[in-house]
Amino acid sequence: MGVPTRMDVWTLGSPGELRRAQKPVPSPGRGEVLVRIEAVAICATDLEIIANGPPALINGRLPFEQDFTPGHEYMGAVAALGPGVDEYAVGDRVAVEIHAGCGQCRRCRSGMYTSCLNYGRNYGDVDKGHRANGFTTDGGFAQYAVNHVNTLVRVPDAMGDEEATLAVTAGTSMYGLTELGGLVAGESVVVIGPGPIGLLAVGVAKALGASPVVLVGTRENRLDIGSRLGADVVLNGREVDAVARIRELTGVGADYVLDCAGTEASINDAIHMCSRGGRICLAAFPHGRTNVDLEHAVVNNMYLYGIRGEGKSAVRRAMALMAARRFDASLIHTHTFDMDDLPEAIRYARDRVDDAIKVVVRPRH
Ligand SMILES: [Zn+2]
Ligand SMILES: [Zn+2]
Repeated sequence: MGVPTRMDVWTLGSPGELRRAQKPVPSPGRGEVLVRIEAVAICATDLEIIANGPPALINGRLPFEQDFTPGHEYMGAVAALGPGVDEYAVGDRVAVEIHAGCGQCRRCRSGMYTSCLNYGRNYGDVDKGHRANGFTTDGGFAQYAVNHVNTLVRVPDAMGDEEATLAVTAGTSMYGLTELGGLVAGESVVVIGPGPIGLLAVGVAKALGASPVVLVGTRENRLDIGSRLGADVVLNGREVDAVARIRELTGVGADYVLDCAGTEASINDAIHMCSRGGRICLAAFPHGRTNVDLEHAVVNNMYLYGIRGEGKSAVRRAMALMAARRFDASLIHTHTFDMDDLPEAIRYARDRVDDAIKVVVRPRH
């Protein structure tokens, strides 16, 4: 396929303002490929970056008015190879992880590249090789993007473009379970918050053999999708005392709790649902300081894990479950727009218009 020299992109202007623009098509460096983007899912973190800035970091500053292109949950086809790449061929369908760590710091060396100690140190005279497309480097609301081969995951032929964009979300869920200890077969997992990460955490936990898998939320339509993704029990926190129900169901509290809501109430619920010696993954970004019952956590020897993104090749591992149809990730994809209509697509995702969960945009080529 021919690669043009210029491409259509969206860039971030002032807070909340996306602009249509053109940029040169980037060229892949050593160990990198050029991806011709076919589909991009909109993430809550994109909404956060576009409106407020963090966690994006461009030139060490807020990402506004710097010609920065957000978007990080994309897939497409390899369009060109950088020097030294023989792992992929032009035309291969790929989905992407966000973070290419520097590869040389202690965190990267242990597989924790989403916690790279050189995060964002890739501008001006400093180039540590770190990339987080859509966070510290140009992302996917464009026709093309450059990705390190370490961030690529093959997309099976039978999988549609929209579903493939969900691999990074499923990978984040997988990373949460990995950090909790990974082998959850026969152990109880509670997921609080049926957003995209929570819903796919249900699918991943079930595929890994967790039993029972319990989903706690407040919106019936989302709890219903959770059931279809494999939840054994769904609890509507508006109707039942979820903490009491989980203590009843498990006798002693849950082995693992994934908080995918990030509120003070949900984190306290997680602590009170967890068994003595159990493990809690905080998979959502809480805002500001949170008043939590640490006394209960410590007295009961609980472990708290904060996670950031999708380390330890979790996207590849989640994609293996998706490829084997162990759960149907496409259940959370609700809308598709042309990328020309990105602001409208963002409105659907932000305001949950028409019960939107995952909204995907597709560039024209
Ligand atoms: Zn995301
Ligand atoms: Zn690093």
